[in-house]
Amino acid sequence: MADPATPFDLVILGAGSGGYACALRAAQLGMKVALVEEDKIGGTCLHRGCIPTKALLHAAELADGARAGAAHGILTTFDGVDTAALHARKDKVIGQLHKGLTGLIGQAGIEVVRGRGRLVDAGTVSVDTAEGVRTVSAKTVVLATGSYARTIPGVELGPRVMTSDQAMDLETIPQRVAVLGGGVIGVEFASMLRSFGAEVTVVEALDRIVAAEEPSISKHLTREFKKRGITAKTSTRVASVEADEHRAVVHLEGGDALEVDLVLVAVGRGPRSEGIGLVEAGVAVERGFVPTDERLRTNVEGVRAVGDLVPGLQLAHRGFAHGIFVAEDLAGLDPAPVDDVTIPKVTYCDPEIASVGLSADAAKGAGRDVETATYPLGGNGRSIIRGTTGSVTLVREKDGPVLGVHMIGLGVSELISEAQLAVGWEAHPEDIAPLVHAHPSQGEAFGEAAMLAAGRPLHAHA
Ligand code: NAD
Repeated sequence: MADPATPFDLVILGAGSGGYACALRAAQLGMKVALVEEDKIGGTCLHRGCIPTKALLHAAELADGARAGAAHGILTTFDGVDTAALHARKDKVIGQLHKGLTGLIGQAGIEVVRGRGRLVDAGTVSVDTAEGVRTVSAKTVVLATGSYARTIPGVELGPRVMTSDQAMDLETIPQRVAVLGGGVIGVEFASMLRSFGAEVTVVEALDRIVAAEEPSISKHLTREFKKRGITAKTSTRVASVEADEHRAVVHLEGGDALEVDLVLVAVGRGPRSEGIGLVEAGVAVERGFVPTDERLRTNVEGVRAVGDLVPGLQLAHRGFAHGIFVAEDLAGLDPAPVDDVTIPKVTYCDPEIASVGLSADAAKGAGRDVETATYPLGGNGRSIIRGTTGSVTLVREKDGPVLGVHMIGLGVSELISEAQLAVGWEAHPEDIAPLVHAHPSQGEAFGEAAMLAAGRPLHAHA
């Protein structure tokens, strides 16, 4: 352990995606880093978010594959879920990544300070460790405490009412589920639980599910969910939830009620900014979030904030980008600020959703003259083979670059990389159209959308 009196260059509060990425990059750049964490290194993404849910969603895809086998000439049936094996597999994935991550942190010479940290002032964090309170001083403090699953006021959590934190470890697959909130978490869990055999109803206050995506994507998902037996009740608010050990009843405004075995509350994630000394140290907090300038500086000099704590998209990869940005900025590398618009978003329900950049409406709202080109996956060989429908839509500035890409269909999560290059590099469809895409691949659908936008379609009508 370093001499406690020796100040660090950087002390980071929270070892989730934003915090650990910042620590690793800062250590690479020669800084002396303390990383304060009260739980496991890796945070929500690794232990309660992205990784476990995607492991479960992969299992869900296998369940659907087993059901679909016969239609492809393969004699498989879906006979149920062995939840012990399901969670063992998921936990193995988490364990492998956690081991790799702690190895990286150790090798980088980052000092992990275990315990709950609190900002004392611009250069000081105090940590309640198992050995007592330790004071850590540094030139810069980075706040990276992330977010928590919000609940609905008046709705109490319990064995039949839970957030994604608990729903990740279900011991049995419930027969009937109500998912409150049709955002990213809501539709991912709805999709997964339906694949595992549950009857699922999604209750969404807004007039469409996945409301952060293009309206046509919400419409397609609603239709595909309906085919799969998932009901979406939109423009519907929850009045109250009653629950005992055996069942739960969700009372909806307007008088309807849903009797279910499980209620999943997925109404957004709130910033974890309470009880960490922010107000006492003079750090401005607005509706729980920590506002920053584009260089992620808070109102207090020497204190920066990254990830879900900062208003904007709540995504692990935004956290990574923020963390790396802060480390490089402190090292004087003058990195470009992280722009939320060019951050890709992927929702791993079936069908998947992937998008990056501006929607047509947002681009028009910003005064851009836009054109869109949509290529249906119904014309893409690999998508037909996989049995999925959907589309790839390019939004371009008239005679200008691709401003946004919006996709739906099983497999489009892997098309997002090319889409983000196009948006990030401000490529024109005319630049992409001549690039040869491998056949037969789902990536061809992106190439075809670019050909269409460039006015030279191959497998589509102009
Ligand atoms: P969200 O903001 O995406 O969706 C919450 C939804 O709940 C909204 O549509 C909202 O209108 C609705 N809602 C709120 N109160 C309600 C009520 N009382 N009754 C009915 N509906 C109500 O939030 P989330 O799905 O909880 O996800 C939290 C964050 O985590 C998001 O920012 C999301 O992007 C992120 N996340 C990302 C991924 C991914 O990248 N694949 C996966 C999971 C979570």
